[in-house]
Amino acid sequence: MKLISIIFFLCCTTHSPDDKVYICFSKGATRYHYKEYCRGLSSCKHVIKKVTVEEARQFGLTLCHWED
Ligand SMILES: [Zn+2]
Repeated sequence: MKLISIIFFLCCTTHSPDDKVYICFSKGATRYHYKEYCRGLSSCKHVIKKVTVEEARQFGLTLCHWED
């Protein structure tokens, strides 16, 4: 079952791992964003960093629910 879900994840990922995303670089951040001026980021009181999707996922972040 685990292998199936990994394949499903890979084939259904529309963005390449090298895509740049924006994250709020704070402890409480849980999301990454495709748009720098996303409203999910506007509440960020910390530094906004530009990283790859791969890096964002390594931080345990998931895609912002305002975007997709
Ligand atoms: Zn967003």
